[in-house]
This record gives sequence, structure tokens and C-alpha cells, in this order.
Amino acid sequence: MPYALSAATTAYLRETRRMLIDGKWVPSAAGAVFEVENPSDQSIVARVYSGAAEDIELAAQAAHRAFQNPAWRRMSPSDRARLMLRLADLLELHAAELVELDVLSMGKPISDAKAFDGPIAADMIRYNAGWCSKLSGKTSTPLLPDMRPPGNFGPAYHSYSLRQPIGPVGIIIPWNAPLVMTAGKIAPALAAGCTIVLKPAEEAPLSALRIGELIQEAGFPDGVVNIVPGYGETAGAALVDHPLIRKVSFTGSTAVGREIVRKSADRFKRVTLELGGKSPVIVCRDADLTKAIPAAAGAIFVNCGQNCFSGSRLFVHNSVADKVVEGVAAIARTMKLGPGLDPTSQLGPLISKRQLERVEGFFTGASPSGVEIVTGGKRLEASPGHFFEPTVVIGRDGSSRFFREEIFGPVLTVVRFDEPEEALSYANDSEYGLAAGLFTSDLSLAHRLSAELESGAVWVNSYPVPDLNLPFGGFKASGVGRENGEYGVESYTEMKSVTIAL
Ligand code: NAP
Ligand code: MG
Repeated sequence: MPYALSAATTAYLRETRRMLIDGKWVPSAAGAVFEVENPSDQSIVARVYSGAAEDIELAAQAAHRAFQNPAWRRMSPSDRARLMLRLADLLELHAAELVELDVLSMGKPISDAKAFDGPIAADMIRYNAGWCSKLSGKTSTPLLPDMRPPGNFGPAYHSYSLRQPIGPVGIIIPWNAPLVMTAGKIAPALAAGCTIVLKPAEEAPLSALRIGELIQEAGFPDGVVNIVPGYGETAGAALVDHPLIRKVSFTGSTAVGREIVRKSADRFKRVTLELGGKSPVIVCRDADLTKAIPAAAGAIFVNCGQNCFSGSRLFVHNSVADKVVEGVAAIARTMKLGPGLDPTSQLGPLISKRQLERVEGFFTGASPSGVEIVTGGKRLEASPGHFFEPTVVIGRDGSSRFFREEIFGPVLTVVRFDEPEEALSYANDSEYGLAAGLFTSDLSLAHRLSAELESGAVWVNSYPVPDLNLPFGGFKASGVGRENGEYGVESYTEMKSVTIAL
């Protein structure tokens, strides 16, 4: 049965979508508009006003005013949580629409989007709502000497710390999981009491804009969340530069992350960066292969390899290597590539023609160097969409581009090993360090390898298993700071210490 778009989505796509600034839906100051393409067939699904520096200026001022506004600043944590819980309910109520907007603009299979993206997004808001009332400072025993003359009683000082919202924050997100990214980034910022200017990716801004309407419906004061779609070099760069923006939270490529760190240095702006990865999955000789093989395939093929935490390097013990490679390749060969809106599709297209050409570039010309293709390695010629076959290649060692560069496509590079130490040294031989997978039945080995892997997360006997209550972020070039859990929400706060001479 072909999937029928909801009437709400069809209606939503009819109008040129405006940006949300200070509680109003407005066109961009310059009137510029961009088109959103469906990567499954290259059709144009929507037109969106494209923001630039002058729109970011208005949005940053609105976020600044909203941060000063007692309606938000003095709102009790319980009332803030109530608004967030209402928003989470609205996300659930409108999950079908939100998911459809993502599928249309970035191509992920609707079955995945419904099963994961919709529920996770609502959960992220709900989880963080709980933090509104849990953030606090603490009292400390002062170490200062009591210099008062004799005859005084009681302590000389009273000291405590306050945990306070950092102020207006700029949030910049990529296109690969727009709904989850929007929810996951605004939730801790709102829980901390910050105000927001959000710049979604120009490829997939629709679900973020729809969430903007739900934010209004939930009853957040005007200007608490402002949403300005636009290009990175214009809107994104202006947001990073803006003096009223106290922190930038960015998810995207390592190259842009570097640029943001450089630019934010002038004002010592706080940054949280979730960047790229080249995450290793290690399958040991004693691994349960009935778990390891499907997990290794899922680690790379889900979302067409367009996940920061994709397990794109597979290290397999020699004794089980043939079986694992054949098992993963068999899954790759049988996966159904198809348009995002086809409920039977298991793998969607890549985001754009540019990205398809980039992935293809690994397989043409002088490359593939140092690898042998087991399956895949080419685009689907017959389709107007940006489809690339799920691909498995075997590398001899860690020297090829396939091993080192983030491909951001459905391409798995396999390398064999003999000793766990060898697998560990391969795994850590990367500029990145976001996640790592480990398949073994040896408890002791699992703990020892987990301790030594240079990555922000280690997932044992399953992949991926990120949890909202656990910190998520990268070692090395995979990022700065952590999201999720208390770490995530605390990163939107400043600590202040107060000392009172009594
Ligand atoms: P990207 O080019 O870095 O874009 C990410 C966002 O930054 C987009 O909104 C983009 O705007 C904006 N941007 C681009 N240049 C900018 C600049 N100079 N100043 C400010 N903002 C700027 O990344 P992408 O190619 O779209 O996304 C894929 C990358 O994201 C991959 O490398 C992947 O590993 C990484 N990623 C990481 C995580 C994680 O959690 N660690 C999650 C998902 C993705 P426009 O695109 O609209 O122009
Ligand atoms: Mg982009």
C-alpha cells in the first residue's frame, strides 16, 4: 500500500513557510526564498523563507528581550516544566505530520521515522522537563578564616552557589535527523531557562518550523524560541557572531565546528559541538554472531550511513571474519532501497546530489585504494533519487581513505585482526572518537576494552544504544562538551558563587 500523506502535511506544504521571530511568523527581511528538495525523487516539496544576518539580528534581539522578560525569567521551574510537558504531548499528537516532513525533506524510511524519530523527539522534551525543577546550586562550608574579634557568635560567612541559565543561545543543527535534533537541542536549553535562536539545516527545516507552531500552542512566551532557516554561511555565521548570543550549540561537520570555535574565541562564547565520527565496531572471536552481524549491518546502514555515530569501521577477529563479512554483505544485498515514503523501504536515498557524488568519489578514479569491494559501491542508476547501494569493502590495514575519512554514506570498511590489542589500536587510530561498538561474551575483555577505547560512548553487544540519561559527545575531533543527561542541561547554565560576611 502506498503511503498517503496526511491532509495536515499537504496543507502545510502549500504555503511558503515563514520564520518565527518574537512570536510572529514573518518572511525574511530580504524576501529570499529557498526550495526544499525531496532526495527520493528530486521533486520540490516546499518553499521556505531564507534568513540572513538581518533576520538573525531581529531573532537575537527577540531572544534577548525574552530572556529579560519576567514572564519567562521569573516563571517557576514547575510552570516551565508544565509548558515542556505540554509541548511533548503536542509532539506526540502531531507525530505523523512531523515525521512526514522529515521523510519528505531528507528521505529516511517512514517506518524508521515513525518507530524512532517521532517517539524519541517527544521523549527528549519530556525527559528534560524533569530537569527544570532539579537544577540548583549548593551551600558550601566556607574555608575563609574567621577574623572577627572575640565575642561574635555563629559562622563568619555564608556561602552558596547558584546555577543560572546562560542566556540567549544559538542552536545550529544538521539535516540528518531534523526532528530529533530540534527536540534534543531545544529541550535542555528550555529546561535551563535559556531563550533560543534555532537555525535548522537548509536541506530540512520543515519539522523544526512545525515545532515552532507547537511551541506557540503550548504557551511559551513570545521570543523564547525563534526559528530562522537559512544557509550556514549567512544565517549560521551571523548567529555564531552575534554579541547577544551567549552560547552556540552545534551539530554538524568537524570543519564547520572548527570554524565555530575560532569565531567564538573573540567573545569567549560557550560552545557545545557534536561533530563527525568514524566509529569502530569490534567483533571478537567469542562474540554471539547472531547479535553481532545484524547489529554491525544496522550500525552502518540505518539512515543510509548518515549518522554521526554510524559504525563505519568494522574490526573482526580472523577466526570469524569470513562469516561476519558474508553475513553483513548478505543483509546489504537484500535491503530494500526505496523512497522514504514507501513503507516497505529499508534504506532511503542520500541527502543530495552533492553527497551522492561525494560518496561515489570514493569508488571512482584512482580509488578505491587499498580496499576490495565485497558488495555495492555504486549508485542506483535507474532512480531519480540520490540512492547509493549499501556497500561493504575489506581493507588490508588502516591506511586507506575508507578507514580514515567520514564518508557519511552506507559504506562499511572491514579490517581483520588477531589480538584484541590490535583491534584496540586500530579503533583508536582515528582523529575521531564519538562511539564504539564491542561484541564479545568475555566480561573481563568487555570492561578492559571499554576503558581503553577513545570514544565518548561504548556500546557492548548492541549498536547503537544511546540513552537520554547518559552523556553523549565526542573525544578528539568528534566534539566538545556532552549532551543528554544532567551534563546536557548543565551545559546551558553558568555557576555563580555567593559569599556573605555575616
Ligand atoms: P554542516 O555542513 O556542518 O552543517 C550543519 C549545520 O551547520 C547546518 O545547519 C549548516 O547550514 C550550518 N553551517 C554550515 N556552515 C556554517 C557556518 N560557517 N557557520 C555556522 N553554521 C554553518 O554538516 P552537514 O554536512 O549538513 O551534516 C553532516 C555532518 O554532521 C557530518 O559530518 C556528521 O558527522 C555531522 N553530524 C554529527 C552529529 C553528532 O551528534 N555528533 C549528528 C549529526 C551529524 P546549511 O547546511 O543550512 O547551509
Ligand atoms: Mg548543509
